[in-house]
Amino acid sequence: MATTRAATKKSAGKKSSAKKIAAPAPGAKKTAVKQASVRKASANRATLKKASVKKSAGRSSSSGKPAALAEYRRKRDFSLTAEPEGKTLDVKHQNLAFVIQKHAASQLHFDLRLELDGVMKSWAVPKGPSMDPAVKRLAMEVEDHPMEYNRFEGTIPAGQYGGGTVMLWDRGNYTYWQRDDDPVARLREGYQKGDFKFVLNGERVKGSFVLVRTRRGESKPQWLLIKHRDEFVREGYDVVAEETTSVESGRTMDAITSGKPHVWKSNR
Ligand code: MN
Repeated sequence: MATTRAATKKSAGKKSSAKKIAAPAPGAKKTAVKQASVRKASANRATLKKASVKKSAGRSSSSGKPAALAEYRRKRDFSLTAEPEGKTLDVKHQNLAFVIQKHAASQLHFDLRLELDGVMKSWAVPKGPSMDPAVKRLAMEVEDHPMEYNRFEGTIPAGQYGGGTVMLWDRGNYTYWQRDDDPVARLREGYQKGDFKFVLNGERVKGSFVLVRTRRGESKPQWLLIKHRDEFVREGYDVVAEETTSVESGRTMDAITSGKPHVWKSNR
């Protein structure tokens, strides 16, 4: 609960300072000067929301096909797979997105994707996430994926890269693990250092985690995904075994494979 509470406090604090600024000045010049300095100070204490909006605005000038996704595109034939090509950097929203896809490729695994700088940083986690801090899960970093991939559920044709069924297993947003003036910068540093700490706010996976890089491979650096101790810890609980349907469509892997319509829409 600590994280949620901190976030609530923060936004409450922001609201009240915004109110102060917006309050009608009683006419005196002195007050206007004071307000300007308050505004300056509060601009310096950029909130998470403001900081990420600014960053997004800065990046949204990029258009067309971002070079960041070159490897992703090289591996796929978009005339054969329904996966998105990733034409845009979809970063206009404030929250950083995360998604976990269950992927029955040649080997079943879970793909953890975390938004950073307009792409989804991606790890293949063979056994999926665990809510137990005693369990360290191998996570192999793979190529960045486009933001549009966060909505992909379906099948990749056999013979194509990653051929098999993809389920949207969890999704939500994520933040830096601590309160900070520039959380996106801290996340970027953590990723680059190989000590990537964050808090996931998904439907199934919640709370503080760390990805620790254990090996800098040429193509596939290896990391460990570890749950930090917080109120979301569930020792001995296997979230991957318990949750076997799509958060998007309610379908099982078999239903997605056989192309059955979304469970929630089956009565239409
Ligand atoms: Mn995969």
